Amino acid sequence: MNRIPLIAGNWKMFKTGSQSVETALSLAELSCDVKDIDIMIAPPFPALALVNEKIRASRIHLGAQNLFYEKAGAYTGEVSAEMLKETGVSYVIIGHSERRQYFGETNESVCRKIRAAVDSALAPVMCIGETEDEKKEEKTFYVLDKQIENGLKGFRSDELSDLVIAYEPVWAIGTGNSATPDQVQQVHRYIRTKIQKFFNRKFAEETRIIYGGSVKPDNISELMAHDDVDGALVGGASLDADNFIKIIKYNRMK
Ligand code: PEP
Repeated sequence: MNRIPLIAGNWKMFKTGSQSVETALSLAELSCDVKDIDIMIAPPFPALALVNEKIRASRIHLGAQNLFYEKAGAYTGEVSAEMLKETGVSYVIIGHSERRQYFGETNESVCRKIRAAVDSALAPVMCIGETEDEKKEEKTFYVLDKQIENGLKGFRSDELSDLVIAYEPVWAIGTGNSATPDQVQQVHRYIRTKIQKFFNRKFAEETRIIYGGSVKPDNISELMAHDDVDGALVGGASLDADNFIKIIKYNRMK
């Protein structure tokens, strides 16, 4: 199955508007010769419109780090899917573990957010993954099952053609302690099989499953060599264009 790899950068709450523009411009230049890979960057909300202006003509897609599921209303501080769409956003990260941990996101709110994204033709990047304790208690697959079943509840597969699943073990995020390529492949295979059972085989084969958790220039090629690894969601190592481009231009072994 020929799934186009996606290398995505999550800039979290780093970079002002002008800093985001500077990094985006460097990345646009450095990536102009990249082929057959989707590149996405997700700057903070205030930088989205500014960055969009600069990357519109480049190969880079614009992503947001979150949205709120309501269309409009008295929801101070929130941002809707339509607002993002009009700003040039095409991907939106949903259910990142930092949002689950610090902002009370649940599988149910993730599901509503994916619905909002889909309704506005934004590609949802649904983050799932177990915590360190859950891993120690050997609950990884149980946790992933619940995140998938409840996060994608009520959808038909044809509504989710742009869905990306990001497997991000919480213990690997920002710790420098990446899961091994073999561990990642094993979990991605499990996720694909789960998606097949929950939806159907064709959809499972077409859905991109990307990995996040301390991805760096020196571990990306080995990760990407595995059949079920379709890309990476990169935090810290995406903040610097010279570093991030090394991840984007990984050594292709498959
Ligand atoms: C992330 O924030 O999604 C992430 C994977 O971070 P890092 O690459 O820094 O571990």
